Amino acid sequence: MIWDVVIIGAGPAGLSAALFTRMRRMSTLLIETAVAGGQLASLYPKKPVHDMPSYTYVMGEDLGRNFVEQARHMDAEIREGEHVTAIARDDAANLVRVTSTKGTYEARSVIVATGGGAFEPRKINKPGEAELKGRGVEYGMPDIESCRGKRVLVIGGGDSALESALSLKDVAQVTLIHMLDKWQGMDGYVEEVRESPIRAMLETETVEIKGNGRVESVMVRHKKTGEAEELPIDVVSINVGYLMDTKIVRQWGLELEGSQIKVDPVMKTNITGVFCCGDIATYPGKYKLLITACSEGAAAANTAYIHVKRPKKFTVGELYAAPKDEGDAQPKGDES
Ligand SMILES: Cc1cc2nc3c(=O)[nH]c(=O)nc-3n(C[C@H](O)[C@H](O)[C@H](O)COP(=O)(O)OP(=O)(O)OC[C@H]3O[C@@H](n4cnc5c(N)ncnc54)[C@H](O)[C@@H]3O)c2cc1C
Repeated sequence: MIWDVVIIGAGPAGLSAALFTRMRRMSTLLIETAVAGGQLASLYPKKPVHDMPSYTYVMGEDLGRNFVEQARHMDAEIREGEHVTAIARDDAANLVRVTSTKGTYEARSVIVATGGGAFEPRKINKPGEAELKGRGVEYGMPDIESCRGKRVLVIGGGDSALESALSLKDVAQVTLIHMLDKWQGMDGYVEEVRESPIRAMLETETVEIKGNGRVESVMVRHKKTGEAEELPIDVVSINVGYLMDTKIVRQWGLELEGSQIKVDPVMKTNITGVFCCGDIATYPGKYKLLITACSEGAAAANTAYIHVKRPKKFTVGELYAAPKDEGDAQPKGDES
């Protein structure tokens, strides 16, 4: 079978693309190395997402499940636990071959939506961190129930750290520290932290995490004064970002900027028939957000549709011509 489109990665971008390719009735295969849902399912299932339009807030795992259910409802085929290792364009056959750990597929178009690839939480590399990992030292959004009634130190100054601290403020005694002199998260989160009982300290760094089999305290240093302080702590929640492993994608012959794939305004890459969306894609003004992953998924799907089905008003030349301006890049020639 030759698929109309193979989508690599079943995160919000790939699942949104699948929704739109299925609305076009393109045969659609999604290949996912882990579980469908992307970062929502694997990195922050217990975090409330506040910036998804139409929801006051929604938990990561619920939103991830909604994305998957919608794609399944549209009859996209999702294969989990299958890792894509290579893609290769065959000009003579006018298709792209996608090789995974379970086989090789032929596709008229491919959408790369691999997000951050494999994730690993960034460490702070302080004494005690490795020894007490899993015994009070946690990474990412903490589990709210297991923190109930405890003293929690959240380390970091970006959105994830602020959100982690806020999610615990009603159930735990929370201290938040950040090395720099400004918070780096959204203004709304910063304001909420200021108005909450959270003890929030800028220009404060971790010196050592102490404990005997479990975290008991954390030694911090206030950078301005040089003073050290030992905080009695039960749980350390480290939220200083993730290391994204995009090594495999780098071997696929796609034009990159840093470790991201360069796309034009309609999500085309440098390889004919290969499109890209979500966190792995880059262009001037890129934001790595759920909402942009969804919109880029829709754009990639429409461009793949034009490439595969070649609706009347489009010629191949038009599709691959550099757009004169962003308006020209819209897939306005199709029937929708
Ligand atoms: C802690 C945290 C909190 C966040 N909170 C928010 C928030 O509140 N609001 C917001 O808008 N954004 C938030 N984001 C960002 C948001 O999650 C991302 O922008 C979004 O997930 C990007 O979607 P994606 O589909 O591009 O990538 P991903 O969600 O990363 O999905 C990509 C999928 O591709 C799979 N994959 C990778 N390589 C392969 C391969 N070779 N073969 C097969 N499958 C592969 C991965 O397993 C993954 O499931 C947060 C991010 C983090 C880390």
